[in-house]
Amino acid sequence: MVKKVTENVYVIEHEEAANNVIIIGKKGVVLVDTSLFPEKAKSIAKFVREFTMKNISLVFNTHYHPDHTFGNVVFDVPVVAHTLTREKMEMFDHTYFESLGIDYFEPKLPDVLFDDTFEHEDGLKILFIHGPGHTPDSSYIYIPSESVLITGDTVINKIHPEIVSDSNLAIWLRTLEKLPKAKYVIPGHGDIGDAESIKNMADYIGKVKKLISGELNPHEIENDPNFANREHAEMLEWSIKNLIS
Ligand SMILES: [Zn+2]
Repeated sequence: MVKKVTENVYVIEHEEAANNVIIIGKKGVVLVDTSLFPEKAKSIAKFVREFTMKNISLVFNTHYHPDHTFGNVVFDVPVVAHTLTREKMEMFDHTYFESLGIDYFEPKLPDVLFDDTFEHEDGLKILFIHGPGHTPDSSYIYIPSESVLITGDTVINKIHPEIVSDSNLAIWLRTLEKLPKAKYVIPGHGDIGDAESIKNMADYIGKVKKLISGELNPHEIENDPNFANREHAEMLEWSIKNLIS
């Protein structure tokens, strides 16, 4: 389903899979994240052409996870990402694909790399900013003129976030604190939100951090709406295992 956020920003939602965001510039369209499936990425490209009468001219990967990067292969345009995103993707080999149950293909690596920030101007100014925590390479987009923040998996609404073995909760919290104030917050997964989504995410990550350090008892979060109201409760146990193993 396609949801309008502002005149120039639309979210292509796919249930619980990663959100794709399109930012319509003067000459071209920026696509944020490319989905796990190249076929799906192709249909997004077709949709963008029909809907905007413009082509996707730039792709951005919020981080290296396959559900945000595997669709890169269908785009013959520059792919912007953090330097570490490319480094991580260079390590995707046959074994990695096998573990995902996907036939191997050569991933398309990002080729416009940045360390702290990157700026793209096409009628509107788009800022790409490094915001580690979910993964070391995680980055987000801020569009000041639209008051839009596109967070990647740094913020997740509706479902339990994926905390992986290279997540760093302290750094993640710091990134959440530093996020620019925007009217619209588009998460990596789940519905479009606002400042409240960031607050909830910081609360969630802060509590998981305390669960792990023993400052919080698991039963204390049982009735916590910020946990109970999120779907896929099994993710929490999985996340904690990732951090302590
Ligand atoms: Zn992720």
